[in-house]
Amino acid sequence: MEGALTMARIGFIGLGNMGSGMAANLAGAGHDVRAFDLSAAALERARAAGCSIAASGADAVGDADAVITMLPAGKHVRDVFKTSVFGTAPESAILIDCSTIDVATARDVAAEASAKNYVMVDAPVSGGIAAAAAGTLTFMVGGTDDGFARARPLLKAMGKAVIHAGGAGAGQAAKICNNMLLGASMIATCEAFALAEKLGLDPQTFFDITSKASGQCWSVTSYCPVPGVGPETPADHDYEGGFAAALMLKDLRLAREAAQDVNAWTPLGAHAEQLYGRFAEQGGATKDFSGIITMLAKAGNDEDGSS
Ligand code: NAD
Repeated sequence: MEGALTMARIGFIGLGNMGSGMAANLAGAGHDVRAFDLSAAALERARAAGCSIAASGADAVGDADAVITMLPAGKHVRDVFKTSVFGTAPESAILIDCSTIDVATARDVAAEASAKNYVMVDAPVSGGIAAAAAGTLTFMVGGTDDGFARARPLLKAMGKAVIHAGGAGAGQAAKICNNMLLGASMIATCEAFALAEKLGLDPQTFFDITSKASGQCWSVTSYCPVPGVGPETPADHDYEGGFAAALMLKDLRLAREAAQDVNAWTPLGAHAEQLYGRFAEQGGATKDFSGIITMLAKAGNDEDGSS
């Protein structure tokens, strides 16, 4: 029932780069947010944003109407749900994991939740730290119709779009397939701009042509990796801010693992993972993922990108 949680008690666990902005938006929308993180600095930020601070994960969720987690990886999600949520949060609480994690763990944790009479959804996000702070994330939700309907009003307080992707784990599946496509399309965009320049084309001219021709894609038109070309992007700030290459690498690994589990062949996704691994090793891990153009542009034709 949309709108049922107008003023919800929300246990929010994981107040890092993303969770801090998300929890602040929920508090700003009038919810009673009980926040927990292992980091004291993160807790202080949450307090300043209008959340109340819990002494532990269990303390955050004890009488919650909803539990929201935004944690680094699958192992943290398993651990937090096992030690702090299951058996501690009321069975009536809707459980929402917004972390980006592997599909298999998302499905396992959802199955355990269901066996314990909870309704749980996976709701990973598209959009980075700025979108989390601005409340303009896109949520891809996996779970039952009932779970989606209950999670939706809360997710809407943190985002611009909330889409039901399918059953448990479908949100994670949509997220990693999208990011595998994005990783490969960004590399292809970078290669094309680097080659165009070596062939003597002006980058702005090539942008004007390809953004209206069949090579057009989001990596070209909305997130062009060349400074001074197209709308303002991290390329205009020395590839600072935006979506870190280390996180793109994480998502490409998750996509490969998922592909292995279902016997799917994803050669471009696998190659994109190798190239982002190499970019991260060369010091690009904290740079925006479009910064991979700097590695591709300086390489010559003796490079095959696989080392
Ligand atoms: P982060 O590392 O900044 O934050 C994670 C937080 O979880 C940290 O503050 C950490 O202290 C806390 N934490 C870890 N274990 C905990 C525990 N047991 N109990 C309580 N707190 C615990 O990460 P982030 O950038 O906020 O990303 C969170 C998730 O969102 C990740 O899964 C990431 O892949 C995904 N994501 C990130 C971005 C981005 O641009 N940063 C974009 C989309 C999705």
